[in-house]
Amino acid sequence: MLKTKTWKLWDNGKINKEETKLLRRKADDVPIPLDENSRKDIKFLIDSFLARDDALGLAAPQIGISKRIVVFKNKKLDEREAAKDEKSYDILINPRITQLRGDRDKMTEGCLSCPDVSVEVTRYKEIKVKAYDREGRKINKRYTGYLARVVQHELDHLDGKLIVDHEGSIFVPKEKHEFFEKLFK
Ligand SMILES: [Zn+2]
Repeated sequence: MLKTKTWKLWDNGKINKEETKLLRRKADDVPIPLDENSRKDIKFLIDSFLARDDALGLAAPQIGISKRIVVFKNKKLDEREAAKDEKSYDILINPRITQLRGDRDKMTEGCLSCPDVSVEVTRYKEIKVKAYDREGRKINKRYTGYLARVVQHELDHLDGKLIVDHEGSIFVPKEKHEFFEKLFK
């Protein structure tokens, strides 16, 4: 199984400067039609995602690729289980939200790139997205409920935005309080 390193803002009580720089960057558009290089990146992201059961989604910057590609489970979101076949996940290339609808709700989120913390994040319950699929074909998608939240989380990554940038309360484990206190003051 492919074990890809996940890039993180911090690790074991210290800031990762280089990784932070890339995670905070606005990721580049993928050229359409897809070139050889982008196809490799897309495959690498999917393989990295399928190899783990602890992520609802993964954005390319999280594995060190500053390109606008995300992948996420589209079913069984409440089960800790890796996505299996192509029907169980979506991949979006150069995604753009075209509509944010309905009420917003608040929920606690975690992120592989922000280990140990969880943050209350307010998000829309329904979104519409224009993007390209893994073959570079135009697609239109609509997401609702928890899945809409997952997609908004992943898309944030492409603009260098992470859960800790949202306004809600941040929860940190007691024993690491000191480190985070300095970080979030
Ligand atoms: Zn994340």
